[in-house]
Amino acid sequence: MSTVDLHGRALANLRLSVTDRCNLRCAYCMPEPEYTWLAKSLILSFEEIARLVDAFVLLGVDRLRLRGGEPLLRKYLPALVELLAARTAIRDLALTTNGLLLAELAPQLARAGLHRLTVSLDTLDPARFRALTRRDGLEQVLAGIAAARAAGFRKLKLDSVILRGTNDDELVPLLEFARAQEAELRFIEYMDVGGATNWSMDTVFPRAEMLARIAAAYGPVTPLVEHSSAPAERFLLADGTVFGIIASTTQPFCSACDRSRLTADGMWFTCLYARTGFDLRTPLRAGASAEDLAALLAARWARRTDRGAEERLGLYRREPLAESAELRHDPHLEMHTRGG
Ligand code: SAM
Repeated sequence: MSTVDLHGRALANLRLSVTDRCNLRCAYCMPEPEYTWLAKSLILSFEEIARLVDAFVLLGVDRLRLRGGEPLLRKYLPALVELLAARTAIRDLALTTNGLLLAELAPQLARAGLHRLTVSLDTLDPARFRALTRRDGLEQVLAGIAAARAAGFRKLKLDSVILRGTNDDELVPLLEFARAQEAELRFIEYMDVGGATNWSMDTVFPRAEMLARIAAAYGPVTPLVEHSSAPAERFLLADGTVFGIIASTTQPFCSACDRSRLTADGMWFTCLYARTGFDLRTPLRAGASAEDLAALLAARWARRTDRGAEERLGLYRREPLAESAELRHDPHLEMHTRGG
């Protein structure tokens, strides 16, 4: 069954945040000195998550990505992966991690049935890693990537948020690193999402400049023509290397967006830029079945008109989505709560 919104976009892809906690403090995501965390009692149990996922599956969701915060901080995560992997209607079960705890967990995640892994990696320089994330740990991340490969994860992806003046000189080294790991690299434009309180257009390193810089190093860059709702446009270099660019800031792709996001406490967001979400925890804890929940979701999705990133592009003066005080008051506005 496929459920479409008012722009004809199917509900096919769910990003599931399993925790709002993170063990890094990346400058583009969590630059503040302090945060308001979701109350522990509100965090969904694995059984509750599974019941919600069943509701989404009833409506046609067949791609699921676990996110956070840092998903590997969620206790017993492989048990959740096992529960979800048993749902055969989910043809793509993926997880995005900063990689810090991956060396330890990659074998368990593989055994639990996780299909794919994406690791965020913005720099290959340890001092820069420390400056950007306010924590040490590049070595651990690299060990995590090696462990993921050793555990048998193929089609590994690496995601790099590129900030002007911070790491825009690392496009080529990151591409070389990804190639050596047989991983596909995706460059991400710095987005003015909730949490990015230091965002300004001056610090965005746009897709056009990324392409120019890569072409200067490697020669012609050929776009791959694909019909997909994936956020990354993919490109081919003459030597066969494929990489992606996620240009949500300068070239949004709302018209193909089939993604929605569920926070660890059961709030459902139908757009990354949405100011408000839809509370699924209350009906869930009141005993709603997967079918009851599916009816709620379908009614909501059928009214969806979100085009958040395109609307941001149309703004005369573009500033961070939310101020620090607003984020402390409503942590659901945060990227690390929504799961990116
Ligand atoms: N902790 C995990 C990780 O680091 O991959 C998963 C959660 S993180 C919020 C998910 C993704 O959002 C990461 O790839 C991160 O780089 C990206 N992200 C966070 N803030 C961003 C921003 N302002 N612009 C672009 N990407 C951002």
